[in-house]
Amino acid sequence: MTTRKMALVTGANKGIGREIARQLGLKEHTVWLGCRDLERGENAAKELRAEGIDARALRLDVTNDAGVKEAAATFAASSDTLDVLVNNAGVAIGGYASPSEASVEDMRTLYEVNVFGPVRVTQAFLPFLKKSGQGRIVMMSSSLGSIAGQLDMTSPTYGVNLLGYNSSKSALNMITVAFAKELAQYGVKVNAANPGYVGTDLNNHQGYRTVGEGADIAVRLATLGPMGPTAGFFHDGHADDLGKHPW
Ligand code: NAP
Repeated sequence: MTTRKMALVTGANKGIGREIARQLGLKEHTVWLGCRDLERGENAAKELRAEGIDARALRLDVTNDAGVKEAAATFAASSDTLDVLVNNAGVAIGGYASPSEASVEDMRTLYEVNVFGPVRVTQAFLPFLKKSGQGRIVMMSSSLGSIAGQLDMTSPTYGVNLLGYNSSKSALNMITVAFAKELAQYGVKVNAANPGYVGTDLNNHQGYRTVGEGADIAVRLATLGPMGPTAGFFHDGHADDLGKHPW
């Protein structure tokens, strides 16, 4: 009998998501790589399988209602239980336009992925997470979504005043709390993670942290024990102490 846990990571064909999937795979999880392009997903899964990881690609565009339902049906054909969901897929569009000039259309596109995507995917996969009895949901947030950080002139993020991206992550933080409150009764813990500034395609590889460093907090939140927190926002911290991030 297998003791492997089931994990789904959205936007897992590259960047931090791929690394989260890799680290969970190395921790004895069967990892489903949610990818909007199945070929890119299959390539990533193949690379992880070469490392001995049980990795499977799953077509999953988080903006597509029917596609997300179809992904849940595909998953259901293999398993009735999901232990870990990492809502990682995200975009940063709209450049550095000031709030007075930001395009509403860009914001709408961004919210479809960063805000409505995690809600859509969480709702579709909830039946499997509830079945786990120890489900863990991680929302990939950002320090840029911290309202406290945006108001603190000493914060390194103070000057990064991006209307769409920042507010999408603030919204995701509230969504984290809302789901956490409802799902505590099912043993499901829901937390938000800040990976720090990681060099990926999202920022044209300007970030100074590695994907390994960025993935770490999400993996820790995905593998919390029964006494672990819920409804929190976390970043690095130490081995036995998750670092609390200000909301
Ligand atoms: P990335 O390398 O650009 O990866 C983003 C992933 O999301 C890709 O797999 C992308 O797929 C996927 N994605 C985009 N739109 C999607 C959709 N509609 N449906 C499904 N998947 C979709 O970016 P990253 O830096 O790893 O970012 C991962 C997460 O961390 C994001 O939520 C981001 O906001 C957050 N974050 C990143 C940083 C950072 O410094 N990098 C800092 C804070 C937070 P395609 O390959 O098909 O485009």
